[in-house]
Amino acid sequence: MDKKAAIAKIKSLAENGGASGASFEEVYARCYCAVQKTLGITPFDEQLSAALSLYEGRMVQMQTGEGKTLCAVFAACMQAINGGSVHVLTFNDYLAKRDCEWMKPVYDAMGVSVGFITEKTDRNERKSIYKKQVVYLTAKEAGFDYLRDFVCFDPDEMVFPEALDFAIVDEADSILIDEARIPLVIAGDLAAEDGSATAEVYAKLTDFELDEDFEIDEESRNVYLTDDGADRAEDIFGCNIYSEEGAPLLAKICACLKARTVLKEDKDYIVKDGAIVLIDEFTGRAAIGRVFPGELQSAVEAKHQLKITSRGRIMGNIALQYFARLYPKIAGMTGTAELAREEFEKLYALSTDVIPTRLPCKRTDHPLEMYSCGEEKRAAIISAIEEAAQSQRPVLVGTESIEESEAIAEELRQKGVSCAVLNAKNDAEEAAIISRAGEKGAVTISTNMAGRGVDIKLGGEDCVEKDFVVEAGGLLVLATSMRESSRITRQLRGRAGRQGDIGESRFFAAANDEIMNKYELKKLAGRHFPDESVSGAIDDKTLLKEAERIQRISEGDTFDERVNLMKYTMIGEKHREQTFRRRKGLLDGSYNSELWQEHAPELYEKAKQKFNEIALQEKQNIILAALLNEFWCDYLDYTAYLREGIHLTQVSGRNPAEEYNIACEEYYDSAADSIPERMAEKLEELLQCDTLEDFKVAMPTRTYTYLLDDMAEEFKTKPLLLNVFEEEEPQPKPEKTEKGEKKKGFFSSLFGKK
Ligand code: ADP
Ligand code: MG
Repeated sequence: MDKKAAIAKIKSLAENGGASGASFEEVYARCYCAVQKTLGITPFDEQLSAALSLYEGRMVQMQTGEGKTLCAVFAACMQAINGGSVHVLTFNDYLAKRDCEWMKPVYDAMGVSVGFITEKTDRNERKSIYKKQVVYLTAKEAGFDYLRDFVCFDPDEMVFPEALDFAIVDEADSILIDEARIPLVIAGDLAAEDGSATAEVYAKLTDFELDEDFEIDEESRNVYLTDDGADRAEDIFGCNIYSEEGAPLLAKICACLKARTVLKEDKDYIVKDGAIVLIDEFTGRAAIGRVFPGELQSAVEAKHQLKITSRGRIMGNIALQYFARLYPKIAGMTGTAELAREEFEKLYALSTDVIPTRLPCKRTDHPLEMYSCGEEKRAAIISAIEEAAQSQRPVLVGTESIEESEAIAEELRQKGVSCAVLNAKNDAEEAAIISRAGEKGAVTISTNMAGRGVDIKLGGEDCVEKDFVVEAGGLLVLATSMRESSRITRQLRGRAGRQGDIGESRFFAAANDEIMNKYELKKLAGRHFPDESVSGAIDDKTLLKEAERIQRISEGDTFDERVNLMKYTMIGEKHREQTFRRRKGLLDGSYNSELWQEHAPELYEKAKQKFNEIALQEKQNIILAALLNEFWCDYLDYTAYLREGIHLTQVSGRNPAEEYNIACEEYYDSAADSIPERMAEKLEELLQCDTLEDFKVAMPTRTYTYLLDDMAEEFKTKPLLLNVFEEEEPQPKPEKTEKGEKKKGFFSSLFGKK
């Protein structure tokens, strides 16, 4: 598209009037006027340019504070007016509400219906909000609604739209990359997992020692028993932990040891109100509603002697990355797209457009400042904050963990510098604090990316003291360590220098920071690696170059992890999609099961005589829907079990991802093959009942939704049981149905074509 010409045309149509059609120039021109009229601002050319990219389904890079919220409105109106529907996926609930309310006058003027959904929105309301042309909500809320429909039996209770159309993802790198692999989970109390045994196991392992009884793999953060440890465990528990029956116990043991040694309080999680609250590695914030996978959650609860929570049985899950891909068209916007260009292209087939800032950037970004050790670094950070505080220049400090932010705040307090600390608060409160971070004299200590999406104006919300703050040098951003991803670094720096403001950013690192140890700076830098006794900033070019290289190594690692994860998870996504779709059809009347007619004709004749035929058909559909839930639970259990053991085939030189895919496919087919038989059994049971209502379908009475912590670790090349079954056969394939041979074509008759 010739954007320049398009923008000129839009503006001329807007000025001269007469735009009434649905071409993009006309819609954009009307939208332009609607913005002027309702919000009293005039969209910038850069915003129109970004808006055009969005409508074309592209990823837009536009710096923080340049006005992305408005850009989305143009593209959303265009899609809606042309018969589509749009979900604007926001970074959090607070922004879903804020952005929707803020932009609603424009939508109203355009005659486009709009609404928002947050965690608080009740289920009845959701159904009508989803019917609006444009809906603002988080990917998490949308994803949970999608999953909840899968455990619903009443079509009236299903809320999620039948067909998705267009998603505009705000802060897109956060959702599509950083959080991409986080699975949303729905669980039900069908047959709850018994976590109490974990507490017993935990208690029995307290004298197991690192290096003697077990080892930790630094990279995957997994724990393995040594031979000695395995012997001890077998003595304690009196069973062969390396047998198939012993596998669940072994998993518990490793989870308990990992909970004890690898997972750290205040870094990986906090204990709050008697519960474990995970900390998000990217935002450093409390990830409410997220839990550790498998046995790990109970193990951490056992570690802190908390009540072991029941989470039910997992009935469905979807990673955010796949959820986003359910939309036929996606566009995204963020301040940091360019650095992830390749990933957007590879994982989502999204190409990236970089929109230049409207005014030149006047922020000074200093290169990494290196110190020999943590203490030296901390002293430098504190003195930088003090210096800013003295001149009443606002300073925003990005720390790596809650622990660190509290330590810094405490040290400052002792020196008489007061500051606002941001952590584990709710989004709205957080937004309020962040929006004041540019005030005269403000010292704000926050974890990574807290308050993403919130504007920081110099001199405060009303800018009254802007002149003073500009004179003092604008906002100063300090980061206390190098981040695993340069996007996070860039996001933090981007907090200063908004819309051509003056500003400055400084990044600190110590040669013995965790990330430097993890990627072995000592080895990389060789003789340039400083001695702990060196004081002050170190100006060694080689050392700095190697330290910066670490960020690229870490980025490459996480990228590979995500690509690797996809190789494993793609197959499950296909299966889930088929199963969900078919189940939904059974309940909303678009598809009837004929399994009884086909596979148990005699029983079916009897049933027809006993019960009303139409009601019988409905019952059949519901019973099959419930069976599909069971089927899917079993599938999830089986695949989880496979993932724990998938390295077995790696040992024998085969490709683990391929083997995994084959095993999943086989299980899926053979489990689906057993469905007609299981349905026939249900029909027999039904015939024993006096009325159709007497036959109760197993449904969960309670469901839980939560987020699982990252699963990529499961797929690292050195998994949990690596040294275990080396000599043994690959694990047993799932049992075939009694009749042995596969009924070809059944599968497609059950699930149909797309
Ligand atoms: P981003 O999401 O890109 O960080 P926002 O959408 O939050 O930016 O907008 C940042 C600020 O810019 C807001 O205060 C908004 O009112 C202002 N703004 C956006 N567009 C314009 C415009 N065309 N003219 C004047 N102010 C604008
Ligand atoms: Mg924004």
